[in-house]
Amino acid sequence: MPATDTIAAIATPPGRGGIGVVRVSGGDLTTLMHGVLGRVPVPRLATVATFRDAHGAPLDAGLVLYFPAPHSYTGESVLELQGHGGPAVLRLVLARCVELGARIAQPGEFTKRAFLNGKLDLVEAESVADLIEAATGTAARAAARSLSGAFSQEVNALVSALIDLRMYTEATLDFPEEDIEFLRAGGVASKFAAIGARVATALARARTGALLRAGLTVVLVGRPNVGKSSLLNCWSGEEAAIVTPIAGTTRDTVERQVELAGIPLTIIDTAGLREAADEVERIGIERTWAAVARADLALVLVDARATDDALDPEDAALLARLPATLPRIVVHNKTDLAAVPPTVVTRHDDGTPRRHVWLSAKSGAGMPLLEAEVRAVTGATAVGEDVFLARERHVAALLDAQRHLDAAAAHLRSQPPPVELFAEELYGAQQALAAITGEFTADDLLGAIFSRFCIGK
Ligand code: GDP
Repeated sequence: MPATDTIAAIATPPGRGGIGVVRVSGGDLTTLMHGVLGRVPVPRLATVATFRDAHGAPLDAGLVLYFPAPHSYTGESVLELQGHGGPAVLRLVLARCVELGARIAQPGEFTKRAFLNGKLDLVEAESVADLIEAATGTAARAAARSLSGAFSQEVNALVSALIDLRMYTEATLDFPEEDIEFLRAGGVASKFAAIGARVATALARARTGALLRAGLTVVLVGRPNVGKSSLLNCWSGEEAAIVTPIAGTTRDTVERQVELAGIPLTIIDTAGLREAADEVERIGIERTWAAVARADLALVLVDARATDDALDPEDAALLARLPATLPRIVVHNKTDLAAVPPTVVTRHDDGTPRRHVWLSAKSGAGMPLLEAEVRAVTGATAVGEDVFLARERHVAALLDAQRHLDAAAAHLRSQPPPVELFAEELYGAQQALAAITGEFTADDLLGAIFSRFCIGK
């Protein structure tokens, strides 16, 4: 059991609101409750009370909820003082709790205690923060699914299956001459294959979940006047970027958030890329390249009126200058002026297959085609009801488990199989998976995870 001093924090967001909550957890709260309320409230029953200062003068009045340990969010005794939602009054109530022996909680400390007391595993604790921070409804639902244990159950089931297989495999180590027979008879190969397939599925779901959590950054690049700002405005439905027929209007990058199939997209409009005429424009172009460097996808805009099948040499040069690994879609804008219908084709301008979308940012015709292409290129198509919100940490752990399983598979193929090495890789995979739910987790990782929570959670 961790040390349990009493912690307190304002649990509602800063600013004014109908209700403001001060939450207290840990230690024996009897003295504190007598000090603030003059009594110990009935457990788990909403009770009206006056919150008082050291002289008995009222600070506020509201509802009180008392959860004696261990039946609470943190697993410790918890008191919730639900008063009025003003910053000054909440600070007074918090100060009164501190006067009575509590200390101000650190970010995420309530949830960290819940984890340390076994109320939540690490995935569930992380999904508390993710639910609070979810930028889209789809992300919030996926976080709630992780919080209810969907992801943890899958990981735990995989860990159990690995333990099962290890037990069987390690038993054969005591009878080395019968190794191969044991492995064959126990259906080790098929059990092993089933685990591999489940890890691959979990990895795919976690990747989508990580995408849902972190979102995607899409950068719009192209020569001046091709319609980058118009596309940003059309997509976000706002007059965010200034649209003018004068080349070089967008001198800085402009960002907008949109939602694509539940995934938060950050779209960055950039300065048109050309030989800059002045210093300000030159800086804008530098920023464009900085935006390109942190993007997940580039939309390269060109003018649909170029009738050639090949790209204009300047546009081709721009494409070639993008980082080789950056996925890209070529957008032929202004179809209304070119009198061609919106469409999508694959072209091989420089030998590599690339998707080209024709649309009109002015009328919006062809926008659904572009959205479908963005989803296909980024893998954002797989967001279904079964996705759980995940983090890069989870994806990395699943990849680590997969590496161990690949190594184990190679051992299994050897003749005769080195059973000891096979068992060791199974153990490695088990350790990697167990780190996801926090069964074996270093303290510094816990520090890093909980310090990013908001105060009072
Ligand atoms: P940027 O410099 O690439 O950001 O280009 P803008 O978005 O500022 O657009 C330059 C000019 O092209 C403006 O006059 C826009 O109204 C016009 N424009 C942009 N997209 C379209 C389009 O799809 N059709 C037509 N007809 N005009 C467009």
